[in-house]
This record gives sequence, C-alpha cells and structure tokens, in this order.
Amino acid sequence: MPTLKPLELGCIFWAQNNKSALEQIQALKALGLHCAQLGCSGEYRIEGKASEWKAACEAENFTLLAVVAAYDGEDYADIPTVERTVGFIPPATREVREARTLALSDFARDIGIPVFACHVGFVPHDKSNENYIAVQAMVRRICDHCAGNGQFFHLETGQEPAEVLLDFLTDTAKPNLAINFDPANMILYGTSDPVDAMEVLKGHIRSVHVKDGEWPAGPGQLGAEKPLGQGSVGMPRYIAKLKEIGYSGPLVIEREGTTPEVWTENIQGAIALLNTLV
Ligand code: MG
Repeated sequence: MPTLKPLELGCIFWAQNNKSALEQIQALKALGLHCAQLGCSGEYRIEGKASEWKAACEAENFTLLAVVAAYDGEDYADIPTVERTVGFIPPATREVREARTLALSDFARDIGIPVFACHVGFVPHDKSNENYIAVQAMVRRICDHCAGNGQFFHLETGQEPAEVLLDFLTDTAKPNLAINFDPANMILYGTSDPVDAMEVLKGHIRSVHVKDGEWPAGPGQLGAEKPLGQGSVGMPRYIAKLKEIGYSGPLVIEREGTTPEVWTENIQGAIALLNTLV
C-alpha cells in the first residue's frame, strides 16, 4: 500500500455499477488524489467485485481508506424523515441492513480496506429506549465482525450532539469503534458548532470528512450543503483545530447532491482551497 503524507487530500465517491473500478480510480487520480473512501449505496452490487478494486488500487498505486455504506430506503429530505429512515434506527430494515453491513465489511477485507463506516442514524438520548438498546447491540455485533476482519468501525457524526455520541461510544465499549468526523453535518442538522464538537470527541476521531454547509432555516429542516469554503464551517479554523488535536490522517473531501460535472468542479475548488491551508 502506498504511503500517504500527513493530511493527504482525498475524497469520498460512490461506486457505480456501470463503470469499472479502474476507470473510477483513474478519474480520481486525474484530480490529483491518491486516496479515497469508497461509498457503497444499496444499489451497488459487490458480488465478485473485490478483486477488481484490489487490482485497480495496486495498478494505480491508490489507497482506498474505508468502505462507507448507505442503505436502501434512506431519505435525507428533512430531519423527521432522516430519523425515520436512516441507519440502524428503523426496526423494519434493521436485519437486512445488518446483513448488508457484514457483507460490506467482508468486501472491504477482500480489497484490503481497514475501515467500515456509516451513519447509524439518530442515537436516542435515553439509554432505556428500545431503539438505543437494539442499535447498541447491533453496533457491538458489527464491531466484533469488523475486528475479525482486522477493521475499525467508524461512526459518522452530526445527527446527535457530540456529548450523546461520546456517551454512546463509551457505553458501547468496543476498542475498534471510532468516529468519522464531519463538520458540516453538525451545522446541517443544527446540532452544535463543529469545532466545539471536535473538542468533545477528539480522543475518538480516526477519520474526517471535509465538507461545508449552512445552518437550517427552521426547526425540523436540514441545512444546505455548500461547496467548500462557501458555508459556515470556516475551513481555516477547522483545519487549525484538526492540527491542534494532533490529527494527521487524510482529509476526505465530501460533496453530495450535485451533478457529476459540478461534483468534479467542486472537488477541484476544494483541493485548491485546502492546498492553501495545509
Ligand atoms: Mg460525511
């Protein structure tokens, strides 16, 4: 596996069924990147694909940092819809999403990827809540499965306050459970100031997204994602805080909800901005 420099720039991209692994990795390299998180939506068919991704990484000297899951039926329209549909919280989809998660962990292992990550959904504040108990048990089973594959399980931040997430982490007590910190999510969900949240979670942050966004316009709404530098995160203070807490892993640029053309343009803009800050 190639060596990455401290705060190496990367991005998250979503695997496509109609393109080869090599083609997708070459497109990222054309942007000047040498690492990325591999997003797998519910539609992405992983059967028989691990060897293709592994060979493409070797051929291109490219590092896949994590497999990040999104699940069939998730909907990010507004906060109540997210609560109802995202992650491991909805009881009706729990079993099928757990099976998919374990399959994705094995897929990642076969490529040589050391991290599995996803949103588990809104963690309830009340530990006696039946969803809290069921989701925690599921997270523990996934941690054990990931540990057997030599992997960490990274929880994406933002849908609950940092203190609630920290409490969930501590209470779940698995050594391979950590955080993928996303500063924009804290703003999009109106949860808390991202830099304050980093201070709370700093002992557990093993990977990060670099994303920007605006605060929600009203209760129950989600804020709007923005190209990097045009939202409320404040990229100079975010990067400064990452350095302050001793984070030296990759900076994974994330941009959702755009066309492929705008995505490419926004990633290029983000790379240019981050090159002035790191
Ligand atoms: Mg994110």
